[in-house]
Amino acid sequence: MKQDKRILTFTLHLLGRFMIFFAILLLIGFALQSKMNDSLNREVEKFSTHQGEMLAFVYHNLLQTEIAELSKTATLIAAEKITPANGVQSISDKGQLGGLLDINGQSIWGVALPAEAKLQCARTLQGEPNWRYYKDVGLVVMVPVYQGTTVRYVLCKLHTDSSLRDKSSPFQFADKKDEENILLYDTRTQQVVVPFENYTSSPFYDADKDSPLGLDQLLSKLDNAQEAAIFDPKINADYVLYASPIPDTNFIAIGYREWRSVVTGITNIHLIVLWVFGLLVVLFCVFILYAFTNQVAAEESTALREARDEALRANQAKSDFLAHMSHEIRTPLNAILGMNEMIMREASGKLKKYAFNIKSAGETLLSIINDILDFSKIESGKMEIVPVSYSLSSVLNDVYNMVHYKAGQKGLAFHMNVDPDIPDALIGDEVRLRQVVVNILNNAVKYTPKGSVTFTVKSQGTAENDTLELEFITQDTGIGIREEDKEKLFAKFQRLDIEKNRNIEGTGLGLAITVKLTEMMQGSISVDSIYGEGSTFTIRIPQQVEKYDPIGDFNTRIEAALKEEENYQESFTAPQANILVVDDNDMNLTVVESLLEKTRIHIHTSSYGKDCLQMIEDNHYDIVFLDHMMPEMDGIETLQRAKNLINSKCKDTPFIALTANAVAGVREMFLAKGFNDYLSKPVDGKTLERMVQKYLPPEKIEAAGEKSAEATTESTPAETPSPADQQIDLPTAMQYCGNNEDMQKKFLTIFVSRREAVTKQLENDLNTDNINDYTTHVHALKSTALSIGGIKLSEAAKALEMAGHAYCDGPEEEKADNLQYIKEHHGEAMELYAKLADEAQSRFGIS
Ligand code: ADP
Repeated sequence: MKQDKRILTFTLHLLGRFMIFFAILLLIGFALQSKMNDSLNREVEKFSTHQGEMLAFVYHNLLQTEIAELSKTATLIAAEKITPANGVQSISDKGQLGGLLDINGQSIWGVALPAEAKLQCARTLQGEPNWRYYKDVGLVVMVPVYQGTTVRYVLCKLHTDSSLRDKSSPFQFADKKDEENILLYDTRTQQVVVPFENYTSSPFYDADKDSPLGLDQLLSKLDNAQEAAIFDPKINADYVLYASPIPDTNFIAIGYREWRSVVTGITNIHLIVLWVFGLLVVLFCVFILYAFTNQVAAEESTALREARDEALRANQAKSDFLAHMSHEIRTPLNAILGMNEMIMREASGKLKKYAFNIKSAGETLLSIINDILDFSKIESGKMEIVPVSYSLSSVLNDVYNMVHYKAGQKGLAFHMNVDPDIPDALIGDEVRLRQVVVNILNNAVKYTPKGSVTFTVKSQGTAENDTLELEFITQDTGIGIREEDKEKLFAKFQRLDIEKNRNIEGTGLGLAITVKLTEMMQGSISVDSIYGEGSTFTIRIPQQVEKYDPIGDFNTRIEAALKEEENYQESFTAPQANILVVDDNDMNLTVVESLLEKTRIHIHTSSYGKDCLQMIEDNHYDIVFLDHMMPEMDGIETLQRAKNLINSKCKDTPFIALTANAVAGVREMFLAKGFNDYLSKPVDGKTLERMVQKYLPPEKIEAAGEKSAEATTESTPAETPSPADQQIDLPTAMQYCGNNEDMQKKFLTIFVSRREAVTKQLENDLNTDNINDYTTHVHALKSTALSIGGIKLSEAAKALEMAGHAYCDGPEEEKADNLQYIKEHHGEAMELYAKLADEAQSRFGIS
């Protein structure tokens, strides 16, 4: 409102100024035009004066010619070469009457003149040819006729009024274009001698004075000058009047010429000047208008800028407040969650359940606060994309860890397809990349009640300029999104299908953050969905390639890990052992913790290299697992610093690298950097256990099912083999009996009880050289051994079976070798069978 008023005042102010300028310009224009007109009129008058001069000259010549012709006839008469009668006859024509006068002015021959012509005649007798006009008679020319030196007669010629008015008269100057009218005026008689056609009905006839228009002005001008011209719009706006006396006569020639025809050419200049001036005025107006609109725009943009700045300030204040509050809430919340974690470790029964509920609600609250913090950071422009070198497999592993557990809890299948050719070493903002992908995947899990979530990772296009476009496709079989809701999907605090989603926690911020972060990374996001059937979200983000080594078969690694996890059964316990796991991703820490949970090893965790260094100064650990890719201080740097720590309590502790990068040469690299070994992510339970078993001090390892000294006073039976020597692999056994402990024991009992019979049967086959039967029986042993976890025995049986098959069906020349192999190794297999039976008794109490 205030802005509108400001703009209105400014507009009026500017318009006022514009009007003043315009008025001044007009005044200048008028002054210029009148000045130009004045000078133009002066030029016109000057030009017309010359015209009058010319006209007088023409009339003078005309009269002189007339006199010359008459004088010639007079000479002929005087010389009596022609008779006076003939002479008079020769000068007479239609309307032109010749005559011969005596010295008294009496007519001898021809025309008789009015009495007043005597005076003219007297003058002629003095030898002076002359002219005179007589009202209502005409124009009379007289020349003397000599006899010797004296004048005897006067030869005269009368141009009658009617002949003078005739168009064919030489005194008429008719203008073809009708631009000019000329008349001959006699100042003596004050009569028009030769009028132009329709003179008395023309605008040049002053009826009041019975004289030509403007005559007085012309005559008064002629008083002081030879010629005169007037252009006075008061007399006749369209015509220029001019007059010039004809020498030796009382006549003046008067012309009326159209002003336009006089100024042709001059007016062009005049017009051009006017045009130029007009153009200048237009240009000026345009300029003023331009300046005006510019100024208005500038005023507007100032107003807008101020409004925008104000809005931005308010928004900034809001974002700052949110960021501040989120931060302030996070700190005590983390403390609450930490304390709750302690309660969970100590508590049991109902208390543990309550603590678990606190944990779940606390984590939800933390994720909401994190979203708000992220969003306010984005809105206030404080969120930055920080490109770093990272390993894609590490990110995908984290993603997998974060999502598959949640999916599993809901009973959803989670499939992950990663194109094995994507380069693993990329440059980009690893943290934000992971965030957007996890956001979308979490939504897929959240909004899918049953079915599956499929996550596909591809790279689009060729790697030009060392960049490629990562494509993350998340397909779910969930509730889907209505067509009309799609445009609201990415708006902040927007939740769709509220009725259906009432029980699903959410703020409506996740996708808004995802979209902003994706855009900040120059990427794009799109969604395809069928309501009720499921949705597909596709995110494309360009990343720079650091190295072209491909990520490899990530899918198989994940599947293997998944299987291991499903079949996992601890093979040992080590309640006295302490290990430290360092990884910036909490989920990875949780995975390791849960994988080793049943081993009863004390596991400490840390998210930063820096904290790790502090922890190894404070505690002794039997093994330290160090993640390679960590922010601030990575695994390699942490290890190097750890080795140089003077107060370290872990000087001889083995360090094992955790990495999602499983490409060739990685192991060598880690060994060269000082690690004792490495473990690839996603971590599979069995490999982890083997690794722990390998590096733990042997005295801390107890067989599974054993009671530790800490937990029990009963001593461990001496004959129990060490884990490395164990014959029965419990996880394998459990896998074959559907994780049913009773079933496993039953299988094992049967297997052990059949030992004698099986051994006898095989030996019988061997002794009778019945290798065919031997092969069949050893094949059965191979399978049954595996089903109770006797992997080593199963392997041995398998080798014997293969030799048997080769003996029976293979080439003749190899028969002897195969038989020899069977005879040599049969004993070993039976020994393994015996050991297994012993172990079954010692470990599981089966005899
Ligand atoms: P929320 O915190 O509510 O999940 P998001 O911004 O992540 O907020 O998502 C906004 C809304 O979009 C959700 O409330 C939900 O209605 C809808 N939505 C997001 N992802 C999906 C999906 N995979 N399937 C169906 N609806 C979805």
